Amino acid sequence: MDSSSHIQTDIIEEGADSIRGWRSFAAHLFAPIKITWGQFFDLLVPLRHSPHIRRHAASVIISRIQLVAALFAVMVPLWSIIDWFVFPWPQWALMTTLRIGSAVVFFLLAWPWQISKTRLQADSMLMALLLVPPVFYVLSIGITAELQVTGTALLVTKLYALMPNIVLAGLAIFPLTAFEVALFSAPAFAFAILGLLMGGHQLSLDQHGPMLWLMVLVMGVAMFSGMSQLHYITALVNRAMIDPLTSAYTRRSGGEALDLQFRLAAMKNAPMAIAFFDLDKFKSINDTYGHDEGDRALKTLADKLREGLRRGDVLVRWGGEEFVAILTDTTPEGARIMLERLRTAGFGLRPDGVPLTASIGVAEINADKVSDWPQLIELADQRMYEAKRTGRDRAVLPGGEVMVFGDKEIF
Ligand code: GH3
Ligand code: MG
Ligand code: MG
Repeated sequence: MDSSSHIQTDIIEEGADSIRGWRSFAAHLFAPIKITWGQFFDLLVPLRHSPHIRRHAASVIISRIQLVAALFAVMVPLWSIIDWFVFPWPQWALMTTLRIGSAVVFFLLAWPWQISKTRLQADSMLMALLLVPPVFYVLSIGITAELQVTGTALLVTKLYALMPNIVLAGLAIFPLTAFEVALFSAPAFAFAILGLLMGGHQLSLDQHGPMLWLMVLVMGVAMFSGMSQLHYITALVNRAMIDPLTSAYTRRSGGEALDLQFRLAAMKNAPMAIAFFDLDKFKSINDTYGHDEGDRALKTLADKLREGLRRGDVLVRWGGEEFVAILTDTTPEGARIMLERLRTAGFGLRPDGVPLTASIGVAEINADKVSDWPQLIELADQRMYEAKRTGRDRAVLPGGEVMVFGDKEIF
């Protein structure tokens, strides 16, 4: 090969590299859009978010509010020094009072109250945080309106007029849906228009159109930022909470759900049961047909279990081929009805067409007189083992009642 063909190959390789580079750049650029319509809908409006996502987003929102509020609680009163240079006495005193008032609100928002961090609290705190600057802006117009402001003072009052824009830009740090960003932007728009009217302006498209357009643009950026943060939070929370193979809750999130349901049931004095499932001779599927077939069987099983449960019930993948169903508001008799449904529908088939079977243990709060959820799990687990010991393909319920599913014993 002579030197010119060397150069040619280099150029071709460089070209291929740059195409690869552009492709991966484009992939990165459009990565956030690689989502289903359902997921996109959830970024637009907060109608179907799961309690876990709500709680997680609420705690992110509250900790960011506290951070920003702490910063403002210090900065806002400090700005009085600048006001002192540019405003005469009564205006300076009034502005400082206004600043101290705002700082108190920021301080209260920044205080680490022992709160449960619900979504309602997050929304109320966010509204309070977002209302302070525009209210401050409108009141400051009232205070400085009489002044013939020139030079630096004019600059400072013009900076105040940017307040609604700053609020809109600030929205970009919160994981919110598009609808929520629009909702939380409303006060900024309202106060910007009020500010213009109070300043004695006639609203005109020529004069104020550009400012309003800029506000819409800033809101658009905040929407995009809020939606992508929410998207990442959802992805992260789901990854930690949902088992990717079976879409059941993971043991960790299932434990949290159990804890919550147990406390709710105890508070209402309501019944609550759990069913512990362990597949029979599952290892032999892996050994004979391979791990992929085993995985497929697990997926089918989870679908079958979900079909047999009610909407409010929770399915947890407790371990490899062990599942726990949390049956809210369910007596042992209710659990028996659910098991009867499962028995009719079956647990799916093994690769050789033979029905899959499971050994099941059921425990219930009142019938078993338990005082915490680990006891409930422990009892259900023991009964599951009893079902294994006594022939598999059956359920053992509180009081020792046995439901034999098939007609053969599987030893
Ligand atoms: P039995 O419960 O009836 O006593 O028999 P078994 O063969 O089901 O025994 P055991 O419950 O001890 O075995 C669990 C097996 O489940 C071990 C492992 O090979 C398999 N397993 C666990 N997790 C997975 C998984 O994610 N995928 C697959 N394919 N297999 C899994
Ligand atoms: Mg097992
Ligand atoms: Mg098993």
